[in-house]
Amino acid sequence: MQKDPIVREVATWRIQRLFELASAETRKGEKESLRLSKRYVRIAKSISSHYKVRMPDKVRNSICKGCGSILIPGLNCKVRLASSKRYIIYLCSCGEEKHIFYK
Ligand SMILES: [Zn+2]
Repeated sequence: MQKDPIVREVATWRIQRLFELASAETRKGEKESLRLSKRYVRIAKSISSHYKVRMPDKVRNSICKGCGSILIPGLNCKVRLASSKRYIIYLCSCGEEKHIFYK
């Protein structure tokens, strides 16, 4: 059942939809909406592990590993370039750094 491609497709679709909802809630910036946003991220993570589907790169790269919030540059994270090492540093407001490599 879990290897059914349609089930996996629906799981990916749900992860993407939860990511959209979480981003929208994060942008509102209120305390209650931030709590909702983190809840959506938790649900997306559990869907990903339950159905063994990989989160899309765009989704995976914008979730903070420390606090589980959606990283939005200029709102709750700072962005720097480590050009000699060829990666982008996302510094979350909780203090966690995320490194994303580029070519
Ligand atoms: Zn964080």
